[in-house]
Amino acid sequence: MNQQYKAPWSIQQAIELYGIERWGNDYFGVSDDGNLTVKTLHTSVPLMDIIKGMEERDHQMPVLLRIENILDAQIKRLNDAFANAIESAAYQASYRGVYPIKVNQQAQVVEEIAYFGARYNHGFEVGSKAEMIAALSTLEAPGSLLICNGYKDEEFIELGLQSIQLGLQCYFVIETPTELPIILERSKALGIEPLIGVRVKMTTENSGHWNTTSGDRSVFGLTTTQLINVVDDLKQKNMLHCLKLLHCHLGSQIPKIQEIRSGVVEACRFYVDLVNEGAELTHIDLGGGLAVDYSGENSSEEQSRNYSLEEYCIDIVETIKDTLDEYKIKHPTIVTESGRATVAYSSILLFNILDITTFEPSQLSPSETAQDHPSLKNMREVLNYLTPNKLQECFNDAHYYRDEIRELFKHGQLDLRSRSEGENLFLEILQKIYAQLQTLDRIPSGLEDLKDSLADIYYGNFSLFQSLPDIWAIDQLFPIMPIHRLNEEPTRQGVLADITCDCEGKIDHFIAEFDTNKTLALHPLKDNEEYYLGVFLVGAYQETLGDLHNLFGDTNIVSVRLNSDKTYDFVKEIHGDTIADVLSYVEYEPKEMELKYRNIAERAVKEGRITALQRQKIMKTFNASMQGYTYYEKEN
Ligand SMILES: *Cc1c(COP(=O)(O)O)cnc(C)c1O
Repeated sequence: MNQQYKAPWSIQQAIELYGIERWGNDYFGVSDDGNLTVKTLHTSVPLMDIIKGMEERDHQMPVLLRIENILDAQIKRLNDAFANAIESAAYQASYRGVYPIKVNQQAQVVEEIAYFGARYNHGFEVGSKAEMIAALSTLEAPGSLLICNGYKDEEFIELGLQSIQLGLQCYFVIETPTELPIILERSKALGIEPLIGVRVKMTTENSGHWNTTSGDRSVFGLTTTQLINVVDDLKQKNMLHCLKLLHCHLGSQIPKIQEIRSGVVEACRFYVDLVNEGAELTHIDLGGGLAVDYSGENSSEEQSRNYSLEEYCIDIVETIKDTLDEYKIKHPTIVTESGRATVAYSSILLFNILDITTFEPSQLSPSETAQDHPSLKNMREVLNYLTPNKLQECFNDAHYYRDEIRELFKHGQLDLRSRSEGENLFLEILQKIYAQLQTLDRIPSGLEDLKDSLADIYYGNFSLFQSLPDIWAIDQLFPIMPIHRLNEEPTRQGVLADITCDCEGKIDHFIAEFDTNKTLALHPLKDNEEYYLGVFLVGAYQETLGDLHNLFGDTNIVSVRLNSDKTYDFVKEIHGDTIADVLSYVEYEPKEMELKYRNIAERAVKEGRITALQRQKIMKTFNASMQGYTYYEKEN
């Protein structure tokens, strides 16, 4: 930005800079006093108010905050969008959503989805017995769908058959031919007719991160030969009428609407021919894939999507209608298994900044002395000829002399104090070059990265491995921003490091209006005031993939419901892991550890190194720590 014409910082600039309206799905805003707010239809509440309430209740940072209203609203939007598309296309059947439990299995999330989804008969998709049990004990609305994927043994199948007796519509989706005989045998033994689905391997490939879930090499689904065998088998046993559902899952986070549409066309072709084979199909299940626009670019890039929810629904409904009408086949119930899009928006990871490293010279370098090493003198010289037309040359020279100074130090020809002075001069030169760059119209290509290499490091009180594993594993982007002080210009550029002190535990890719940035605009810290950041759209896939890197455990979790009078209620509070908890996960016995430590302390008493009273204090510290939070705790 050109320094001369700088207007005062406005909240609108903050909204633009952090892209709140591009990724926020209308759930976030900024108040006049610069606070990020959570918005829902009837209310808005500043996140800082919620943080204050949490701290008063001793929920220390980091906290995973869940906003019930957003989950509720997302389920409503999905069901309403399909209902609208169905109405406007005069489609002759309805929509039924199911939530795939694997996307976030936390009891509270699954319970809320069952609760908010009941009015739409929103069901569940499960892929294991454990998920099945979770679904069975949560799903109360009779008539809801329960879609069973994954490998199913006898017990899994019995659970499903019995749920039909309880009023659920439980479909066994056959993923491999070996499942069919077990399903038929169990249903005969229990006298309950099964509802059967078939999962087909799709050849439509998509360009997202998760594209291996579709295509020939997909590990899921039946090949066309296997599909024909299943049909023949059912026919021969007079059970073809049980085949009701066609299942296909194109993949997750599909960025392009064109790929979704061509997948639906392929699914319809399977549907038509299965009906022609005599199957009395009633449901077409298109799996997941509805993307979240993490980067806010509204593009066909991996971390974005080039379509809206409305477009997604209309395209699916119209494609199915047009294809099946051609063959005069009755419209099926449309099922989708949206996980990511359902839960991503409702969770926010909040943390405070513990410290900052800057790459500024510590003080103006001491002036030249007669004893200065010639290399140091040369370095100082650079400052004298630093002008806008010589920036690249000065940059090169500064690096040359700095390397020379480091070499000399290594060989004992220059002392520590001189080296420190040299490094400091080096930073002074780079900062001056950077300042001059701002006045140029075009940045010389050799200096394009200078901004990134001078970026501050902000140390955040969180573990990437525990709370944001996809950043580490697959370079996932999430919107990240300060949640207050948005009425002040963020004058610093920084990257984020987590508390694990692992070199992988850093974030140096951030969403931007176009492409990505390597740094994030942040505010300098103020004395005696915490600085809080939020990582947004983290409700899907992050919670159970996390690991115990450096034994940082689960964070505190707080779930709030916003009220229309701008107040909020804490509906659920879960304390994160204690140190004793995480130690027991890796098979330590906290009780035994205490015993051992006490023995060590007692020996010190015997040997006269400490008094018995000191032992008492030492044990108190140890035990309090065992019961404490694994993250950096503020004393209050
Ligand atoms: C993972 C998965 C989903 C969820 O996909 P999203 O893209 O998160 O909506 C749905 N169905 C199946 C079979 C899956 O494996």
